[in-house]
Amino acid sequence: MAISFEIPERVVQEQQMAMALAQGVMRPQARRLDEDEHARPVDFIQMIWPVLRDQQKRQLDKLLAPPDPNKPKREGPGITYLRMMVQVEALSWGDAGQYLCMPSALLAGSAIEAVGTPEQKERFLRRFAEGDDPKWGAMAMTEPNAGSDTKAIETTAVLDPETREWVLNGEKIFITGGGLALNESNGLVVVWATVDKSAGRAGMKPFVVEARTPGVIVTKAEIKHGIRASDTVAVSFQNARIPYDHLLGDPEVRAIDEGGTKGFKGAMATFDASRPLVAAGALGVGRAALEFVREKLIEAGIDIPYDRPYHKLSAIQRDVLEMEAQLKAAYLLTLRAISLLDHGQRNSLEASMAKAKAGKAVTWVTQKAVEILGMMGYNREWLAEKWMRDARINDIYEGTGQINLLIVARRILDYSSRELN
Ligand SMILES: Cc1cc2nc3c(=O)[nH]c(=O)nc-3n(C[C@H](O)[C@H](O)[C@H](O)COP(=O)(O)OP(=O)(O)OC[C@H]3O[C@@H](n4cnc5c(N)ncnc54)[C@H](O)[C@@H]3O)c2cc1C
Repeated sequence: MAISFEIPERVVQEQQMAMALAQGVMRPQARRLDEDEHARPVDFIQMIWPVLRDQQKRQLDKLLAPPDPNKPKREGPGITYLRMMVQVEALSWGDAGQYLCMPSALLAGSAIEAVGTPEQKERFLRRFAEGDDPKWGAMAMTEPNAGSDTKAIETTAVLDPETREWVLNGEKIFITGGGLALNESNGLVVVWATVDKSAGRAGMKPFVVEARTPGVIVTKAEIKHGIRASDTVAVSFQNARIPYDHLLGDPEVRAIDEGGTKGFKGAMATFDASRPLVAAGALGVGRAALEFVREKLIEAGIDIPYDRPYHKLSAIQRDVLEMEAQLKAAYLLTLRAISLLDHGQRNSLEASMAKAKAGKAVTWVTQKAVEILGMMGYNREWLAEKWMRDARINDIYEGTGQINLLIVARRILDYSSRELN
């Protein structure tokens, strides 16, 4: 498969628009929203909603359009994911925390797209494609006793045979966008619960939980180290009753050799799309730090010569070249993972590689930025220390660095998750 390193002109235009928003709306609010953690990035949300709503409408209409045998087949790869990559990178350059408040179906949308019926897609996703008020979606997997080990989830869904409703009980923590989805909009959360604990992964099912469902309580807004403008909450389910047809996919618990984990695997495949986008977000934060360091070095009369041999460079010049190299390596891996998606090909290995590399690279690059900038890197006058804090999450959510490296190892060595864990 050939990867194009050229970004098409119309994607470049969209990138410029996203950068204008990042520069003009997000950056000026970045410090205030970092200090005032639970305030909402109102300006950003208002500006981005109409754009996202129209994008989401086009995507949903395309997704639900009946196949047309007369329509000529598209030549070559698409650019859907490349566009997203470029936008996410630019908005995260503006402020990674605000970007995560983007009104959209986010991971909930990916799960609904992956395993929902056409009717469920229409019913649950149409709201993100219309109206004047922004809406949010979220995905709730993590629990106090289930982080990386997702099969350990304890939230239960029991079918009430009389009302044919699912009754949910349990606790989910660290849900990005959960407060926005449940408290502030006609939003929804895709909640993973087990219908049969003894069946392991085969018993785990995704349920769509609507905002304002009785028994669904946002219990805590997290106080975080970085991405503080983002909304991260804990949610408690106390006999929350969910209509039968809010279960996504097959309600039957089948044995593993009868495709019992198909639904789980299908929804987990959403990570193949989301991990490269997390990598793109990391790249945006890394670029912000790198550009700032270069600017300050130039002001101090230190240039970065590309034509001088390595041994004739100062330590700081070498550091900057290494920062560039780390981010470029992560960029190329991300572009590869994205390009496979746009070619309609499987990319689990490449998605995990990109995510693991970008998470590590941005963590290192932003720490270097603080180091090079000295005292001013550490105080709150500039944004360098914030970027260092914002960077760290990229190596934690959507699979930690270790978990993504495990996935890479399994795929390369052809081991199952049971054989290598
Ligand atoms: C800001 C934020 C937002 C989040 N948003 C969401 C969200 O929207 N929805 C959601 O469901 N979750 C979300 N999470 C949860 C996130 O996905 C988990 O934090 C992550 O999966 C890791 O789980 P854990 O924190 O319990 O760590 P653990 O799983 O307890 O891991 C602790 C450490 O052990 C390592 N480790 C664990 N298992 C292995 C292994 N087999 N081999 C090697 N090392 C291992 C990990 O890499 C990590 O370093 C969010 C978390 C944060 C911090």
